[in-house]
Amino acid sequence: MTNIIICGAPGSGKGTQSDLIVDRYGLVHLSTGDLLRAEIRSGSQLGKKIDSIISEGNLMPDDIMLSLLEQHIKSLPADTKGIILDGFPRTVHQAQDLEDLMLRTGDSTVAVIDLHVGEQELIQRLIYRGQVSGRADDNEHTIRHRLEVYHKQTEPVTAFYQQLGKYYRIDGTGEIADIFERISRTLDEKLN
Ligand code: AMP
Repeated sequence: MTNIIICGAPGSGKGTQSDLIVDRYGLVHLSTGDLLRAEIRSGSQLGKKIDSIISEGNLMPDDIMLSLLEQHIKSLPADTKGIILDGFPRTVHQAQDLEDLMLRTGDSTVAVIDLHVGEQELIQRLIYRGQVSGRADDNEHTIRHRLEVYHKQTEPVTAFYQQLGKYYRIDGTGEIADIFERISRTLDEKLN
């Protein structure tokens, strides 16, 4: 499979752009946040643990995340062309584990799209999303904590992929269609 990673701070538009990428390139969207929220809705013991971690704006442990991801990838139909990974990896450890997993399965990550949006705009977008979607972690206190976690734990992932020559920083501001156009200029080369 030919995989793409979309990353960026909370509120940078990863989910919105992933939907457009799925439509144009025929990839399967895999959002680890969505996987976790589905587990919470199932009411399982693991779901309760996940709920408290997400509500506080912290990250789930790397080992749980990798096994959830691996399980999900294994359950995909054999003819899956590729995946757009949204929200994973969020730590350098996860990035290393993902590269190892790809080596084992013979798949590869061909591009890492990093959506860049200024802090003030991120906060405004997330507060608005919280009002519309009711997501428990989209309140101002948790948003600020999630941004801190992002800078500390997730931003170093960019250097990891820069070293591998797979990293593309994209301006994530402006109209949704214009942002997608910028992303497509990179992906057209990689996926067609
Ligand atoms: P998202 O929907 O991507 O914003 O994710 C919502 C929350 O799920 C995050 O704030 C984390 O608590 C958790 N989460 C999602 N993906 C990961 C991951 N790869 N590693 C750890 N925690 C994650």
